[in-house]
Amino acid sequence: DHGHGDNLALAFWMNAAFAVIEVIGGLYTNSVAILSDALHDFGDSLALGSAWFFERKSKQRRSETYTYGYKRFSLVGALINAVVLSVGSVFILIEAFERLLKPLQPQTTGMIFLALLGITVNGAALLRLKSGKSISEKVISLHFVEDVLGWVAVLVGSIIMKFTYAPFIDPLLSVFIAVFIVSNIYKNMKGAFQIILQGVPHNVSEDQVKSELRKFAEVESFHDLHLWTMDGNYNILTTHIVLQSPLEIVALERLKSKIKANLKKINIEHATIEFEVKGLDCGDAHEH
Ligand SMILES: [Zn+2]
Ligand SMILES: [Zn+2]
Ligand SMILES: [Zn+2]
Repeated sequence: DHGHGDNLALAFWMNAAFAVIEVIGGLYTNSVAILSDALHDFGDSLALGSAWFFERKSKQRRSETYTYGYKRFSLVGALINAVVLSVGSVFILIEAFERLLKPLQPQTTGMIFLALLGITVNGAALLRLKSGKSISEKVISLHFVEDVLGWVAVLVGSIIMKFTYAPFIDPLLSVFIAVFIVSNIYKNMKGAFQIILQGVPHNVSEDQVKSELRKFAEVESFHDLHLWTMDGNYNILTTHIVLQSPLEIVALERLKSKIKANLKKINIEHATIEFEVKGLDCGDAHEH
């Protein structure tokens, strides 16, 4: 719907604009902590931008080259983000370690000002998105909580540095932010590889599928069950079902429709089923 897209766009532009402000502010105040947060916000806007782009791409119709459609293209965005953020994190960490060895007092008043601005802007975005209903809005609003907390840490650190000589706090904050960025890369990559490696989707289990199939009296047994996901949301099942007794084709079609309708309720969008008859089954009850 409309409001949803608007909120995504708002979050994208806010993060992008803020990243630019932080680069300028970080250079001006000579703070690596602020520069790390610039990378973090740049990564956020990259993720939001690619989410928006690939969400549109995924709605494109399947083609002769991509017979499954374009849903999995969102993984390309995730991989690009991971590469960009990994490279950025390495630079940030090198800079931070140099500063830890040779501490340099940043301009703390400027840092305090930027931190207050960060808390205000991210807090406002958080309040606006908190009311959102879609999953991505919830994820993004949770993310703004992390952003606000990051800025609170920068605020506390810069206040301490203003009143005591403790310039090591700035690179220390920077290392924490970099570790946070890297842990997010790890989480995202773990999810992406689970999809690429045909893992069972997170929002449905094999047991759920089995108990759904067992509800049908016509179903004697099933085998060669494969459960995977196109992009984390669009889930696919293929299986062989052995029937209690042979069914004529119309009855079989009705049974299949009912099974597919039930599978839809447990988040399986696309099911391909082979029916077999007891005693004549394919014998392909292999384990992969
Ligand atoms: Zn963030
Ligand atoms: Zn198989
Ligand atoms: Zn079979």
